[in-house]
Amino acid sequence: MKSKGLAALSPGAPLTPFDFNRRDLGAQDVAVEIAYAGICHSDIHQVREEWGSAIFPMVPGHEIAGRVNAIGSSVSKFAVGDLIGVGVFIDSCRTCASCQSGLQQYCVEGMTGTYNTYERDGTTIAFGGYSNNFVINEDYAVHIPSTLSLEGVAPLLCAGITLYSPLRKWGVKPGMKVAIMGLGGLGHMGVKFANAMGAEVTVFSHSSEKKDDAIRMGASHFVVTSDIASLKPLQKSFDLILNTVSAELDINAYLELLKLDGTLVVIGLPGKPYAVNVGSLLNGRRRIAGSMIGGIPEMQEMLDFCGQNNIVSEVEVIDAAYVDTAYQRTVDSDVKYRFVIDASTI
Ligand code: NAP
Ligand code: ZN
Ligand code: ZN
Repeated sequence: MKSKGLAALSPGAPLTPFDFNRRDLGAQDVAVEIAYAGICHSDIHQVREEWGSAIFPMVPGHEIAGRVNAIGSSVSKFAVGDLIGVGVFIDSCRTCASCQSGLQQYCVEGMTGTYNTYERDGTTIAFGGYSNNFVINEDYAVHIPSTLSLEGVAPLLCAGITLYSPLRKWGVKPGMKVAIMGLGGLGHMGVKFANAMGAEVTVFSHSSEKKDDAIRMGASHFVVTSDIASLKPLQKSFDLILNTVSAELDINAYLELLKLDGTLVVIGLPGKPYAVNVGSLLNGRRRIAGSMIGGIPEMQEMLDFCGQNNIVSEVEVIDAAYVDTAYQRTVDSDVKYRFVIDASTI
């Protein structure tokens, strides 16, 4: 299948128009006309090789929303015309304990990413969603509620599920105090979800001008972190802290903010190790945990939750020509709160 996309041809290169082929429709495949593709900070990390060496040419994009325009002969989950979402992985081994329990992102063989990897044949480069079309096995895509704006849904396929999953895993409910570090693409979804689940939400941000937005999205408190002393009065306050910050920071100052048995979940992935003060862990039996996106059943649950609660991402829709500027603005924390590419401009 002929495809048009935007690709980085080498590490850190600007994104340029790129023609390529996707596989022809297999019996269990669905063809997607992409409408919108979100720009995740992970796209930028990978184009710039901040996570190690990457595969080029790279067509990034793992927040894909579109419409089914053809189905393979044995497809049963989708029909032509359905709204469809694709996230951070396109396949996995399907047989390990993780895959069998719907946690494909933790497949013991490793999930097959949407881009910057090879497909399961081991030779075909996987090209992502900054593109006009996509081909996906039906088991690895989800249904999008028709009541939500499609551009606002695209970021849910990564940013949304990545915050929804740990909030569910750690049982967030009314009465709990939850903090979100970083009000970017991921963080703003965390505020909306935690608020909808009934928690009292605090945002830690190094951008003071985001306060009004944070409150409007459902936060009760907004703390500017540029002066680390502002954290002191909040020691031993939180049940759960989700760190979505894309840059290096002193994690210890935040560990101190956890209550007894509280958990700090690391989600942001700057690519460098954290130095952890063990004393801050021992005192309060605190935990540091990680969480990575979510599996297919939970992605569907998250989208249904969004449909029921009318939750979408706050987006700035851009043309293909603006992507490099959007990358720089994202790195500068100047995004409100997710850039989404209008795929018709590619
Ligand atoms: P983003 O939109 O750029 O948001 C990151 C936020 O971090 C910024 O808006 C900013 O918030 C804060 N920040 C950035 N630089 C900072 C600095 N120097 N000091 C303090 N705070 C800073 O990025 P994103 O798309 O939400 O992704 C966030 C991170 O999560 C990335 O590292 C990404 O790769 C990772 N990620 C992980 C998963 C997973 O499964 N675990 C999935 C997707 C993405 P304020 O302006 O409010 O301070
Ligand atoms: Zn992502
Ligand atoms: Zn598996």
